[in-house]
Amino acid sequence: MGLSKKTVRDVDLKGKRIVMRVDFNVPIKEGKIKDDTRIQAALPTIKYVLEKGASLVLLSHLGRPDGEAKIEFSLKPTAVRLAELLGKDVKFCPDCIGEEAVSMSKSLKPGEILVCENTRFHKAEDMKAKTDEDKKKMDDFAKELAKLGDLFVNDAFGSAHRAHGSTALICKHIPVSVSGFLMEKEIQYLGQAVENPVKPFVAIIGGAKVSDKLAVLKSLIGKCDSLLIGGGMAYTFLKAQGHEVGKSLCELELLATAKEIMDLAAEKKVKFLLPTDNLAADKFDNAATIKTVGNEIPETWMALDIGPQTAAAYASEILNAKTIVWNGPMGCFEMPNFAQGTLAVCQAVAEATQKGAVSVIGGGDSVAAVNQSKLADKMTHISTGGGASLEFLEGRKLPGVVALNDK
Ligand code: AMP
Repeated sequence: MGLSKKTVRDVDLKGKRIVMRVDFNVPIKEGKIKDDTRIQAALPTIKYVLEKGASLVLLSHLGRPDGEAKIEFSLKPTAVRLAELLGKDVKFCPDCIGEEAVSMSKSLKPGEILVCENTRFHKAEDMKAKTDEDKKKMDDFAKELAKLGDLFVNDAFGSAHRAHGSTALICKHIPVSVSGFLMEKEIQYLGQAVENPVKPFVAIIGGAKVSDKLAVLKSLIGKCDSLLIGGGMAYTFLKAQGHEVGKSLCELELLATAKEIMDLAAEKKVKFLLPTDNLAADKFDNAATIKTVGNEIPETWMALDIGPQTAAAYASEILNAKTIVWNGPMGCFEMPNFAQGTLAVCQAVAEATQKGAVSVIGGGDSVAAVNQSKLADKMTHISTGGGASLEFLEGRKLPGVVALNDK
């Protein structure tokens, strides 16, 4: 599905009323925005649409207000911040559907912009529709949203894995639906990695649990040349191989599944790398006593990071890659004493990228690790959507992407 969706560049915007889904789900405390990265990230598409002579209505969710208008989840502060960033007036409508929203959208002149209130103030935006009646409610809501524009632009990749009113269902009720620049970049890089990776393709999967990453592991084994495993999930695999893992994270109920995954990798001739040394701690604490151990973790100890030998082996594999996908840290990187493995991987991915590899990093924690190590600008693409990027890599079709017009 990846590479063939229409973008804002493919349509005539002049004189049109554009309704655009953005991700303004920013952290707000006492009415003040704590981090405006997501608003800044939407600026290129917003400016492009306005410069092309269109008027623009913005939709977004913020937090989880559970279908009620709660002031702490209002998008008003984002409209104020957007006005500052654009240096122009930004109108605000206290609802995203209804007469007022429609008439405000229709009275916009080319180059003018309106932010509508949180789509999740309506239950129908994101309910888990089980009955036909619920489905109709969601569809009716999407139909109302569609009245806000002649053309829909989706630039909120982080919500594209949800079939919500403002992300996917709206597309049924509006003649043309295209991606914005942020969405386009996500589809391009994740799509390339999944559908057409330049080889060698190295995937690095870490994080706490195998259970969260089962689908992505299985999907990547069909595509990559090497799979490097780190983080807490490594110890379920090591246990399945018969090693002692002490008090390390281990999902005993998944030992058979872990074995199946390793067998599948062998069958597909994918190099499946597990840690060969580890940093073990006597407690889950940055101030714990630490020792480097091999793959037999002593009984009362827990492995909280990959060891230096593993980090070096992973780095050399990464440096050979032409495509790299990374999701999940190699250890408890939030604690400085267990951040070395993740940092080493981060540096290797940055170096490989500088040598010409395409690197795609997804998942909140690996993105945080990259930002922490100040190497973000050395990577090809850092995904803005944790859940959405994981589902994309799992090979699932994201409703918000599928619903856009094909080229
Ligand atoms: P995930 O959200 O699945 O990507 O997992 C990220 C979390 O896994 C982070 O909070 C890490 O601290 C944690 N983690 C990584 N390695 C380990 C480990 N060896 N033991 C326990 N937790 C870990």
